[in-house]
Amino acid sequence: MIYYQFLKYKIKFFKKMKKDLKNFNEPYWWKHAKPKLIDDLEWEQTSDVVIVGAGYTGLSAALELLKSGLKVVIIDSEIPGYGASSRNGGITSGKIKPSIKELISKFGLELAKKMIEEGETARQDLYDFIRKEKIDCDLKINGMFIGALSKKSHENQKKDDDFNSEYLGIENRIVEKKDVSKFISSKKYVGGIFDKKIGSIHPAKLVISMTKMVRKSGGYIFNKTTFKNCEKSGDLFHILTNRGLVKSKHLIIATNAYTDKNLPWLRKKLIPVISEMISTSEIGNNRVNSLMPKLSTFGEALNLFHYFRPSPDGKRILIGGRRVQYNNEDPTKKLMYGLLEIFPELKEIEISNHWYGYVTFPFDQIPKLVIHNGIIYAAGYCGSGTVWSRWFGKKAAEIILNFEQKSAFYNIPFKKIPFYNGYPWFVPIAIEYFKIQDWWINSKE
Ligand SMILES: Cc1cc2nc3c(=O)[nH]c(=O)nc-3n(C[C@H](O)[C@H](O)[C@H](O)COP(=O)(O)OP(=O)(O)OC[C@H]3O[C@@H](n4cnc5c(N)ncnc54)[C@H](O)[C@@H]3O)c2cc1C
Repeated sequence: MIYYQFLKYKIKFFKKMKKDLKNFNEPYWWKHAKPKLIDDLEWEQTSDVVIVGAGYTGLSAALELLKSGLKVVIIDSEIPGYGASSRNGGITSGKIKPSIKELISKFGLELAKKMIEEGETARQDLYDFIRKEKIDCDLKINGMFIGALSKKSHENQKKDDDFNSEYLGIENRIVEKKDVSKFISSKKYVGGIFDKKIGSIHPAKLVISMTKMVRKSGGYIFNKTTFKNCEKSGDLFHILTNRGLVKSKHLIIATNAYTDKNLPWLRKKLIPVISEMISTSEIGNNRVNSLMPKLSTFGEALNLFHYFRPSPDGKRILIGGRRVQYNNEDPTKKLMYGLLEIFPELKEIEISNHWYGYVTFPFDQIPKLVIHNGIIYAAGYCGSGTVWSRWFGKKAAEIILNFEQKSAFYNIPFKKIPFYNGYPWFVPIAIEYFKIQDWWINSKE
């Protein structure tokens, strides 16, 4: 009898442990908005447009096309929003990796300006969309502070800021050392830059609302449906999936960092990287307020930076970064260590969740909206897709709808690397290179 009771207790204990571990490894966001399986649809064999990938890109394209009365089928090998769109930090950056100087030297002043300005337009368009559609996704426009770790790095920020104000007419946004405490209570930063237009959202609430909107507008979403391949026959794409064939006039690929081996053309042009986050347990509004007085979002002037923000209820801190260690070091501890470097006073707090997802980089670090063999590809947002993916989805739809005004990014070709098959074996080497660069710039005082 005692043995039976003990066994029952042991089973209960291990079941609870398994559940806790599962919850621990789920995105914090899924507590309030978890992607759900859709299983009430009969397979459709024809469509005007098929979209592969049900994240922000695919759903946004669908919403735009549905407004014009087209029939839209979205397929996703998982469930809608299961990719990066329900896992991200929700920081509405809308920035691109290369600096304005680099953009000018590559594309000339006019196109470079258009690219930067399109990021501002895209961000505002996201805010307008959320407000117009009354989407409850905790939108807050409290700005973003990018901290510099050394005088040299802060000098570089100043030069870039002057350049931006000269060429783009953007007001100067430099934060001097004496003012850093107005933005963050941390000794890590000697200055920074503050962009008041950047905000934050609850990413999973947004993607789930978009999923509902697509369904309400008559769009078909098939989850657990993997794109296998396609052939063009006459005017139609014959698209083969594990669920069957669907014929469509148009095809949009919106798989971004989750692009798999069934899409080899795209896969060979993108470098997928793990981005991961932790959430603290509740530490209270007062404490979060005292550490982040403007309740804004944060980044760092580094190649291998941390991004962080308060949770929408202002009771926790969420921090993320790229997975930079390719050994067995515990990634939760690594992120916790990153958090303590910024706020050493948090050393006794607990972590409630640790999760990861994939972001992806084209070789030239310019987001891509490209047509190849009649197929529209939108991808490569370099970890800043909260704004860009929704925008590029919309722009992909506008190509089908024959809008005259195209994105500044339209048809900028992918850079290729010979013999690259989509397996990013060189990432650990690149990371070591970035570490040295970061050390170099921040050690020369
Ligand atoms: C941890 C993390 C933090 C981030 N933080 C931020 C941030 O704070 N700010 C910011 O701007 N960006 C951030 N990002 C990036 C941002 O989340 C992404 O750029 C954006 O969500 C991409 O959306 P998407 O719709 O293009 O792709 P996803 O949402 O990734 O969707 C792609 C979908 O394609 C599906 N798919 C793939 N292959 C196939 C196939 N063969 N057949 C069918 N379906 C397929 C996948 O199942 C997936 O659901 C972050 C990303 C991560 C992972």
